[in-house]
Amino acid sequence: MRIIATIALSLFLLPSFGQSLKKEEITKLADAYLVEGVNTLRDFLALSNLGSIPSDIDQNIKWCEEEFGSLDFKTSVLISDGVKYLLAERTLDQTLPTVLVYLQIDGQPVDASKWFQTNPFTAVLKNCDRADCHEIDWNALRKDWDPNWRIFARSASDSKGPAVAFIQSLRIFRQENIPTAFNIKVIMDFQEELGSPTLPSLVAQYRDLLASDVILIMDGTRPPGNIPNITFGARGIATLKLTVFGPRNDMHSGQYGNFTPNPVFALSHLLASMKDENGLVLIPGFYEGVNLSSQQKELINKVPEDRTEMLESMGIFQPEMVGDTYQESLQYPSFNVRGLQAGWVDEEVRTIIPSKAIAEIDMRLVTETPAERQIQLVKDHIEGRGFKILDSLPTDAERKQFPKLIRLESRIGSKPFKTPLDSPIGIWLRLAMDQSLGEGAYISMQATGGSQPIEPFISTLGIPAVSVRISNPDSNIHAPNENLRIGNFHEGLKMCLGILTQPYE
Ligand SMILES: [Zn+2]
Repeated sequence: MRIIATIALSLFLLPSFGQSLKKEEITKLADAYLVEGVNTLRDFLALSNLGSIPSDIDQNIKWCEEEFGSLDFKTSVLISDGVKYLLAERTLDQTLPTVLVYLQIDGQPVDASKWFQTNPFTAVLKNCDRADCHEIDWNALRKDWDPNWRIFARSASDSKGPAVAFIQSLRIFRQENIPTAFNIKVIMDFQEELGSPTLPSLVAQYRDLLASDVILIMDGTRPPGNIPNITFGARGIATLKLTVFGPRNDMHSGQYGNFTPNPVFALSHLLASMKDENGLVLIPGFYEGVNLSSQQKELINKVPEDRTEMLESMGIFQPEMVGDTYQESLQYPSFNVRGLQAGWVDEEVRTIIPSKAIAEIDMRLVTETPAERQIQLVKDHIEGRGFKILDSLPTDAERKQFPKLIRLESRIGSKPFKTPLDSPIGIWLRLAMDQSLGEGAYISMQATGGSQPIEPFISTLGIPAVSVRISNPDSNIHAPNENLRIGNFHEGLKMCLGILTQPYE
């Protein structure tokens, strides 16, 4: 069901081109159009959105086509290597600059049994006091709303909530006859959670169609503390799968213990050689090229950090020691074991020497540490430990010839990007954020720890990018009970209103 409230505010003297909205105007508009925006979001959340299911992609494309069509945007489906994207565009005035907005529409798979609601695609409004949440009627929003109420549904925060905050700002401009400071292009990605595998070829193929002056990414969560945030970079990602081989088959640990080597120990020794007890990567050259000047550190560390609260909420005694602060630690590449497997555990445990041990690794990358280099460094390190690296299962001949066998499979995901904080785009966004939320009410971050598939736009189109982060840090993205705080959606709306009306020179 679609609930639309038509509101005509006419409260203000409307600005002409090149005139930004005032803070009070932005707040009044966001207040007046909040409920309609939430209803649009509920409607959108009801569509399941797995990037691997073509009918899911199609139904979300249809929704977006209708929505942007109703906002006087021209839409076209772009196809890259068989995968559909949607482009929506609106030219207001040829002399204005063009902003390209990237929206992620797909979501992670759901395990409905782990959710505290019947259907993860039927949004539920809740009032939460720490972990204790209770459902409230949607009509409560119409009377008065509490910024701490939350919308629970898959993709509420990642990333349909931010997408709808942006769409609702366009609705406001249209209803209230407010000119934007930009011509607007919107590219919608329906396979972000699959790593946007065809995005680089899309950008190369439709380079002219996507040409713009600046890119805004409506994706990503805010850092701990939930302060409104714009982020000028993201780490990239490369993944590795390491398989260390032992005997040809699993062996009885009584009959062969003390004789047949167990690959779990070989893998453990290898992993232990890669990172020390303080969390510093020991692979030679891993951090090479990353040098934070005291000036950069000062800018980076403007983001407030409550160390005690962070440790307490994570339930850990102390952090790793790569950077002096949380923000500094995100400026370095990381090396993480994301999964381990060998033999069986719990009820299925058996007394065997397993035939293989597997470690799944992810490495987050920064601009100074490209994926190809980092993967080669890992290979060199493994060879330096006496392993023979294979790209498939070992042959009998290899088993005879080499004492230590490991298979290494690698995949390069999104590349890192970094836009200087003091660049023209940085200055423009700070002016816009001052108008939307007020000076000192937000933070600019150099980099987020996660990865975003934005680099193809930056390298192919040659334009800078910044991500506008709306979602609360405790939003459970990718996990059961994903949610978006109403206050965050409201602030997101204000941010979009301010940014799109702030002239960019
Ligand atoms: Zn995600």
